[in-house]
Amino acid sequence: MIPIAETLLDWYACHGRHDLPWRQNRDPYQLWLAEIMLQQTQVESAKPYYARFLQALPNWQALAAAPQDRVLALWSGLGYYARARNAQRAAQEVVTRFGGHFPNTLEAAVTLPGVGRSTAAAVLASAYGQRQAILDANARRVLIRSHAIEADPKVSATQQWLWTLASALTPEDAHGYNQAIQDLGALICTPRQPRCTACPLVNRCLAHAQGRSHALPVTVNKAPKPQRCAFFLLVVDTEGQILLEKRPDSGIWGGLWCLPQAASDGGAFPILCSDTLHPLEDTPAVRQSLQAAWSRRLGLNLQLKALEEEQQHVFTHFQLRFRCVHARVLGSAVADSSATLRWYRPADALTQGLPTPVRRILRDRSGGC
Ligand code: SF4
Repeated sequence: MIPIAETLLDWYACHGRHDLPWRQNRDPYQLWLAEIMLQQTQVESAKPYYARFLQALPNWQALAAAPQDRVLALWSGLGYYARARNAQRAAQEVVTRFGGHFPNTLEAAVTLPGVGRSTAAAVLASAYGQRQAILDANARRVLIRSHAIEADPKVSATQQWLWTLASALTPEDAHGYNQAIQDLGALICTPRQPRCTACPLVNRCLAHAQGRSHALPVTVNKAPKPQRCAFFLLVVDTEGQILLEKRPDSGIWGGLWCLPQAASDGGAFPILCSDTLHPLEDTPAVRQSLQAAWSRRLGLNLQLKALEEEQQHVFTHFQLRFRCVHARVLGSAVADSSATLRWYRPADALTQGLPTPVRRILRDRSGGC
């Protein structure tokens, strides 16, 4: 037994999160799904989504065959929707290329869409009992601090060194060890407030010995996020239905149903690429250009009403500033739907795959705004 592994496994036996829903069995589908959801989502946020998703799509075949709209609706609110699209493509490949079984080698597993080395290793270790090292954010932070690694973890040479270290430390019982180091990072060696006095590694941790627990991992100064701007159109037809527009399959919010967007100069969809040169002002000229652009593009006779206050939504690489524009359709006819433009009753709209800011706008509206 490798000493650090023994220490971590002992700690895990008493203090680990044994009750997590994805730790109740070693089903590869369930383990893989949890790993994908946890890539950019906190455990507590992921739990209800995991339960709902698993109930609706309990295996590779069900996920592979589901309509993409259904998958995105189940993922709606978790963010990073490329994960959902990749998850479905991965399930389809498991079914078609691997006979309905998660591949049993690291080389094959990392060919699945959305499955990186650490995700593949975690599934192989837990589902098939293989000795595979992981290097997710929690494990990486524990290794960096316990070995006082000063190098920038984003640099490829540092990552290679960390993988070498992780592989050397991982014992035969990689399943238990991987969960132990993940839990230590999540519960004790946390990003901002490491609780060193409660840590089983405190007597061998170099960062703690050097008084540098809070200083590691090093962070290279980040440039401020660029800003992008958009107006969202909340238009209601004569029967009280709301118009949603399907985003292109790839890119930001790919495949989700969104409120139609525009820049303040009436620029075309997709407008999340708009720049800061078009401030979100409420002027007669802006209203006129928005009304003309949306009426033309959507084939509707629109009348703009109120503009809501500016709101923000933070993406990984930029910050979106947006305002919601209320409008109504003039005339008595109910508007038509199409493949990418669809009218929904408010309650039905909320069951679709929606970006979080759009869901918030619709919820606020149904709450009486
Ligand atoms: S002693 Fe502190 S810094 Fe070191 S691994 Fe434990 S919690 Fe992290």
